[in-house]
Amino acid sequence: MSRDVRLDIGLRPVINVSGTMTSLGASIVLREVAEGMSAILPQFVEIDQLHRRASEVIAKACHAEAGCITASASAGITLAIAGAMTGADLALIERLPDTTGMKNEVVVQMGHLCSYGAPIEQAVKMTGAKPVLVGQATYAQRYQLDAAITERTAAALYVISHHVVNFGQIPLETFAEAAHAKGVPVIVDAASEYDLTGLLDRGADIAIYSAHKFLSGPTAGIVAGRKDLVRATWAQNCGIGRGMKVGKESIYGAMVALEAWGRRDHAAVRRREQAALDTWVAALTGRPGVLARIVPDPTDNPLDRLEVHVDPEGAHISAWGLADRLAAGDPPVIVRDHEVEHGFFQMDPCNLHPGQEHVVAARFAEELDAAQKSNEIIGGSLFERRERRAAAVRRWPD
Ligand SMILES: *Cc1c(COP(=O)(O)O)cnc(C)c1O
Repeated sequence: MSRDVRLDIGLRPVINVSGTMTSLGASIVLREVAEGMSAILPQFVEIDQLHRRASEVIAKACHAEAGCITASASAGITLAIAGAMTGADLALIERLPDTTGMKNEVVVQMGHLCSYGAPIEQAVKMTGAKPVLVGQATYAQRYQLDAAITERTAAALYVISHHVVNFGQIPLETFAEAAHAKGVPVIVDAASEYDLTGLLDRGADIAIYSAHKFLSGPTAGIVAGRKDLVRATWAQNCGIGRGMKVGKESIYGAMVALEAWGRRDHAAVRRREQAALDTWVAALTGRPGVLARIVPDPTDNPLDRLEVHVDPEGAHISAWGLADRLAAGDPPVIVRDHEVEHGFFQMDPCNLHPGQEHVVAARFAEELDAAQKSNEIIGGSLFERRERRAAAVRRWPD
């Protein structure tokens, strides 16, 4: 690798073992994607034609009728919902978020109302649509969905993610059957899902992916599915989509990333990730108060992670204390800590540069050795830790 640009502008050279996080810059963009993007940047293009080429690439990769690139998956959700309300009617498109004269309700299971850094409900409401909640957080049934769908329903939204409640929900197939029985299209947020074709097979009319997550592409969203719905999504560029504009470099970068995905040696990637996990298991085994086990991805993506349980009595440090020490160190190591209140965090090997797994293992050893020498438990209050994070947002840019 050439010189680290981060150091030039005073950024810490973080090592990402948390996954594909917007807060850390998503993923390692493939070299061929970066080269494609810089090749198109100085050129003029007919942007609608470029979008047509992107539709062809998405159609092929996702076995879909058509596709379009948006600024992000979140923008894709907003624009697909908008499209379900307006169709390709330009007068209606210009009218949003005023939904006068349109079906404007979106049914969604309560357990699917996640935050991926922002509330998904807001991505729906921005269009002027009104979310209609189905069931309770951990309980949703077909009869509740049937009752929620009326002549005002424009779309049914379904979320597949580790962010959502993963039990007690309606299976996608049943959800789609109920929606289709009343002529309502099903929009699936599959931002982090590796399966580019299966969701459309299982009943989705639209499936939405992030280009900057597992695909290692630029920041963009990929909307794949039924041609009339994709067209209506794309046409929002003449309306509320304008403020979520995606440029030529990201459209083309996402195309290159999709094509690269089809050629990727997925088995080799898995072997590399497994080797990193093995390195970490070896480094953590036998350490007092630390229990590490390899766990599968909760939504069945072909990706394992290491779950590190930390018993503060034995380790002299809490799980969040260890996460914070690693993040504060040199180099900073950022772990996957959204469930840390249960006394564990995870280590995700999918965004490592070669050799970084050993740096991470060494940093763990340093912090755990230091904690053993401590007479009190390192970590502090979990509640205050969360407050500190919220306060940092309010204080920015300091
Ligand atoms: C990441 C994520 C999003 C947002 O994707 P962006 O492309 O970053 O906007 C939406 N939904 C789910 C389930 C996600 O994991």
